[in-house]
Amino acid sequence: MKKISLKIKVTLMFTFFMTLLTCISLGLLFSLSSQEILGSVQAQLEKRVYESMDEVSVQNGKLDMEQDFYDLEDGIYLALYDETGTFLFGRVPYGFQEKTVFADGSMQTVGTGAARWYVFDIKYRPGEFQDVYIRGVCSINRAENSMKTVQRLALILLPLLVALTGTAGYFFIRRTLRPVRQITETVQEIQKDRDLSRRVGLGRGTDEVYVMAETFDKMLAQIEEGFQREKQFTSDVSHELRMPAAVILAQCEELLEDENLTREQKTQLQRIQKKAFEMSDMISRLLFLSRADQGRQEIQKERVNLSELTEMAALEMELLAEKENIRLEMQIEENLFAEVDESLYLRMVVNLVSNAIAYHGGPGYVKIRLQGMENQIWGSIEDDGKGISPEDLPHIWERFYRVDKARIQDSHSGLGLPMVKWIVQAHQGEIQVESTLGKGSVFTFWLPTEESGEKK
Ligand code: ADP
Repeated sequence: MKKISLKIKVTLMFTFFMTLLTCISLGLLFSLSSQEILGSVQAQLEKRVYESMDEVSVQNGKLDMEQDFYDLEDGIYLALYDETGTFLFGRVPYGFQEKTVFADGSMQTVGTGAARWYVFDIKYRPGEFQDVYIRGVCSINRAENSMKTVQRLALILLPLLVALTGTAGYFFIRRTLRPVRQITETVQEIQKDRDLSRRVGLGRGTDEVYVMAETFDKMLAQIEEGFQREKQFTSDVSHELRMPAAVILAQCEELLEDENLTREQKTQLQRIQKKAFEMSDMISRLLFLSRADQGRQEIQKERVNLSELTEMAALEMELLAEKENIRLEMQIEENLFAEVDESLYLRMVVNLVSNAIAYHGGPGYVKIRLQGMENQIWGSIEDDGKGISPEDLPHIWERFYRVDKARIQDSHSGLGLPMVKWIVQAHQGEIQVESTLGKGSVFTFWLPTEESGEKK
């Protein structure tokens, strides 16, 4: 089932409870007023019957009725009966059962369905005359009908009230939840653009949602500050380490020229030089990435022959490939031109090819392809080496991520692919990888031939 939004859920709940409450209140009201109305009808009937005693008199041994006795006051019918129950004077409603037994001074309910009556009798003796019964009859349905009209009106008004409450509630809740939507959108934008400088920016308010948004903004500011501090720290550290590494390298070179060194001392010194070189390389990659993070990494694009540049990079790696028993194959279309930063492009290709050789395990091949396609240049570095497992594949673009941490490659620090990705994206290109464990990997990139004007 499709998920219902919070707005709809709260509106439905609110409307349901409002309707329930209204129904209960109306039910109670109707039941109380019905009792009240019927009670007052009975009281009226009783009063009318007692009053009618004055309308019956005896003249010359005969009963004489006043005209009022025949009036239909408040829907009450009056009739006079003799002791045996024989009708003498008055009126009874149409359909009333004449045979109803007389019950002196008590209220009776007779009839069923649409023909129900309250009946009230009194027995008394007018003057010297024999005992008579005065009977008052009043329709219960008549009293109930007036209530039914009100009930019907309520039944028509209730759905209207529900619809009105629901609609008003929905707009009110939507308005109340608008800040929550704004918070969600901000988070989604941050996730998409990785831009921590965004804020919800609801302004000042006193309700809980405003306080939440303000707290959220404060938290974002703190996170951003933390990231900035970390970037600055990495940048400062790599800056500071650059000089000592360069000094170690220079000193090693100078010392290695000393004729008096023993063979063993030379070997040890060469080992130090190699490690210092790797350290210096790692520092320069770190510096590159921290500059890129801070938007300070310079890109100097110019129109270059990518075919020649790619070939040059591949040739640079030929010796290394040979040493590892790997065949370097090239399928490079001639004279493909694009607007790129020459040194960054070289860095990218060298990184990809050196990875393909380093993680190959040999013997085998590494194939470098370059091809022009409409406004793009498509390139790939393919190898038939060890490949990468599906679990590791999504992480290889992360900094310092290395699949086989135990087998640390000398000049590989886990910063190569993040750098490659940044270079491709800085050229408004794309890069992706496909790999099968035990079969090999293909890194494919696309670069636009013309600069789009958009700078990252
Ligand atoms: P490093 O600088 O250590 O090579 P990278 O960021 O370039 O780090 O690569 C990250 C990880 O991706 C490497 O540790 C390696 O395990 C894996 N990898 C990269 N390229 C290949 C490849 N062509 N074949 C197999 N594994 C690869």
